[in-house]
Amino acid sequence: MLSDEIRKKHQEYLFPAGSHFYEKAVVLTEGKGNRLCDLDGRSYLDFFGGILTISVGHANDEVNQAVIAQMARLTHVSALYPTVPMVELAEILAHITPGKLQKCFFVTSGTEANETAVMMAQSYTHNQEILALRHGYSGRSLLAQALTGHARWRAVPSQVAGVKHAPARYCCRCPLKLTYPSCGVACAQQIEEIIETTTTGRIAGLLAEPIQGVGGFITPPQEYFEIAVQIVRKYGGVFIADEVQTGFGRTGKMWGIEHYNVEPDMMTVAKGIANGHPLGALIATVPVADSLRKPSISTFGGNPVSCVAAKTTIEIIQRDHLQERAKEMGDILNNGLQQLQHKYPRTIGDVRGMGLMQALELVVDETVQNRTPHPQATLRLLEETKKRGLLIGKGGLYGNVVRIAPPLTIQKDDIQEAIEILDESFACIEK
Ligand code: PMP
Repeated sequence: MLSDEIRKKHQEYLFPAGSHFYEKAVVLTEGKGNRLCDLDGRSYLDFFGGILTISVGHANDEVNQAVIAQMARLTHVSALYPTVPMVELAEILAHITPGKLQKCFFVTSGTEANETAVMMAQSYTHNQEILALRHGYSGRSLLAQALTGHARWRAVPSQVAGVKHAPARYCCRCPLKLTYPSCGVACAQQIEEIIETTTTGRIAGLLAEPIQGVGGFITPPQEYFEIAVQIVRKYGGVFIADEVQTGFGRTGKMWGIEHYNVEPDMMTVAKGIANGHPLGALIATVPVADSLRKPSISTFGGNPVSCVAAKTTIEIIQRDHLQERAKEMGDILNNGLQQLQHKYPRTIGDVRGMGLMQALELVVDETVQNRTPHPQATLRLLEETKKRGLLIGKGGLYGNVVRIAPPLTIQKDDIQEAIEILDESFACIEK
């Protein structure tokens, strides 16, 4: 097999750190729309979209044409110069982001966007300590690893002082062993005690994902953010919404945080913004942005090619109402997944998510009180679905969550096909 040769060289010349999900990594060579093809000629329906990054389909013609035209015009001058695509994209982001968010700082990844956001929270509030959430994922720099609430993603002990973690709002595995709604959203209420007992009493802010992505699409109860953000502001902090996974229509609205009735002071974005072209951004209110008094530059930040890709991607999302479509298709997908849970109640412990960000939590036996996570079932499911031509994702602290997030351009027939493949695959692993 041609792929074997690449896999061998990959092992020889690349760090082993990248995780591949499968016993044998898939070597992808081509993509169009919602389908991918590997080096051995096998085709796959893509229900993970390059980790929630392919918003408008692989090799989208409109994005490609815009990118090719920009490449012929100008590819790089650095952030020292304001280019037309950079400024136009910043203006679009100011218009489509909620509340008073207006000024943009461009980078090339979600990690850098979060790094910048924490620095800006400190610069604006003159406070140091920052809150993040357990089960959250913020990126791979040392600060982002310290913010991340998963031991698995921390390569070295955190050297960053002042990062505190509040409990996850993980209803099906409530860390406080309570049940919603009688719990009174105690996980959010606890933030006050955490601030009063583990910080100086004045904090820079809270950084949180509206839906925790790597954590396994953990979807908080409706009141969570109103309670949490009110407490954070009472203690001098700002609220940073990490929309790296949830942004750009993914959840059925343009932003994940729009489901929760709060306005962030900053928002970080990456992934779905440019359909696979490397771009990240921090969008902040004017006072927050203007509080930075020292120069700060990202050489590749706001690269004109990536900015043109982002501008075109956002135009397509808006023109084709892809956020509304994400809701509509997401409901169909969720319905199919609920039916699978009905059929395989022993293995599927929870179905959750919003729009085209849907997860299945696999358990050893749903009837066991604490729903023991079943990471081996997840691995087997990935192998079975791959065999049948479907790519899906994995996540969760225990590696037992199946993450499903196709491009926003997905069709009803594709969802039907994916559900059938999942059905056959679950039948196989429950045998
Ligand atoms: N925040 C969230 C919510 C993420 O899911 C990720 C990536 N999985 C990051 C930040 C980091 O983004 P990147 O990998 O582009 O640095």
